[in-house]
Amino acid sequence: MTKQVVIVGGGVIGLLTAFNLAKDVERVVVCDKGELGGESSWAGGGIVSPLYPWRYSPAVTALAHWSQDFYPQLGEHLFSSTGVDPQVHVTGLYWLDLDDEAEALAWAKREGRPLSKVAVSEAYAAVPVLGPGFNSAVYMAGVANVRNPRLLKSLKAALQALPNVTLQEHCEITGFVREGERIAGVQTTAGTIEADEVVLTAGAWSGDLLRLLGFSLPVEPVKGQMILFKCAEDFLPSMVLAKGRYAIPRRDGHILVGSTLEHAGYDKTPTPDALQSLRASAIELLPALADATPVGHWAGLRPGSPEGVPYIGRVPGCEGLWLNCGHYRNGLVLAPASCQLFSDLLSGREPIIDPAPYAPHGRLEAL
Ligand SMILES: Cc1cc2nc3c(=O)[nH]c(=O)nc-3n(C[C@H](O)[C@H](O)[C@H](O)COP(=O)(O)OP(=O)(O)OC[C@H]3O[C@@H](n4cnc5c(N)ncnc54)[C@H](O)[C@@H]3O)c2cc1C
Repeated sequence: MTKQVVIVGGGVIGLLTAFNLAKDVERVVVCDKGELGGESSWAGGGIVSPLYPWRYSPAVTALAHWSQDFYPQLGEHLFSSTGVDPQVHVTGLYWLDLDDEAEALAWAKREGRPLSKVAVSEAYAAVPVLGPGFNSAVYMAGVANVRNPRLLKSLKAALQALPNVTLQEHCEITGFVREGERIAGVQTTAGTIEADEVVLTAGAWSGDLLRLLGFSLPVEPVKGQMILFKCAEDFLPSMVLAKGRYAIPRRDGHILVGSTLEHAGYDKTPTPDALQSLRASAIELLPALADATPVGHWAGLRPGSPEGVPYIGRVPGCEGLWLNCGHYRNGLVLAPASCQLFSDLLSGREPIIDPAPYAPHGRLEAL
C-alpha cells in the first residue's frame, strides 16, 4: 500500500482525488495555496454536461457520460454523510437556434443520449419566461446542474471526517523534492512535505508548476465571468442556452448567467464590459431579468488545455509524479470520472475507462 500521497491543489479535482485515494493509501495530504475550493471550481456554473457535448472528442464524452451517471449517487452520498447537500438539480437543457443541430442529433443517436429536436413552441410552453424570437430548439432531458460551492463544502467536510486525510490551506507548493529521477515530496511555504507520490491538481496553475521540473504542459488560465440573479423558485424550470450564453436555475431561485471566455493571464477582476454583455445575454434569454439587479458578479480561471482533454496519469521520466489537470470548461462534470480513473491508475486497479487518451505520455514536452 502506498504510504503518503501529497495532492497539490484543492479544487474539485484535488478534493475528489483525495476522497477516492483515501480508501487506497495510508495517508493523503491536500495542500492549497489559498482556501480549498476557492478558485475555478467555486466560480463555475456547475452544468453537468459540456455546453455543446457533440463538439468534443470521444475522450471528453467518455468521462462526461460516466460522471453524469454517477453524479446523483455522489450527491446523495455526500449529503447523507456530511449534511451538506450539493443539490444535483435535474432540469434538462434547451439549446436554442443551434447552427449545428444536425451534428447534435447525429451525436445523440450515436451515443444513445436523450437529446432530440422539439418544436420551438414546446420550448416556450416549458419555459414561459423565454425571450421572443427563437426559431428552433433541441432538448436534452436529464441534464443536471450541481451547486458547485456546496459540492466543495460537502467534499471538504467528508475529507475532514477521514482520519487519514490532512487538509492544509494557505500552503503553497513552491518546488519539488528530487531524489535522482524521483520526486520524493514538495517544498511549501510551510516547509517540506515528503511523499511517495505527488499529484498535480493545480488547475490553471499546473503548467507553471510543471515548468519548475523542465516540462512544458499546455495548460493555461482562461478567464470566465458570471453573473447571478435571485428570482422566484419556479422562475426558470430548465437550463437554456443560446449563442454560447446560458442560464442555470438553482433550486432556490438563484439564476446564474454565463460566461465570458477571455485570455487575460491570472487576472480575475470582474469587468464592467463583461457585466454589460452578460446582462444583455440574460435579458435576451429571459427578458424579465431586465428589471432585476444582479446579486453577484465574479470571475474564475479555467484550466485551459488543447481540445479540453485533461491530463490524467503518471508523468513520464519522473517517478512519483502524477497529473490530474487541464479540465478546461468541464471540470465539474468530468470530475467524478477523472478522479475515479486517476485513483484506479495510482492504485493499480482495472481502470473504469481506457486511460490512453488522457495519458501525459507523448503530450508533454521537455523545455
Ligand atoms: C465561469 C466559469 C464557468 C464554468 N462552468 C462550468 C460548468 O458549468 N460545468 C463544468 O463542468 N465546468 C465549468 N467550469 C470549469 C470548471 O470550473 C473547471 O474545469 C474546474 O473547476 C477545474 O477544477 P480544478 O480543481 O482543476 O481547478 P481549481 O478549482 O482552479 O483548483 C485548483 C487549485 O489549485 C490551487 N493551487 C494552484 N497553485 C498552487 C500551488 N502552487 N500550491 C498549492 N495550491 C495551488 C488553487 O489555489 C486552486 O484551489 C467553469 C469555469 C468557469 C470559470
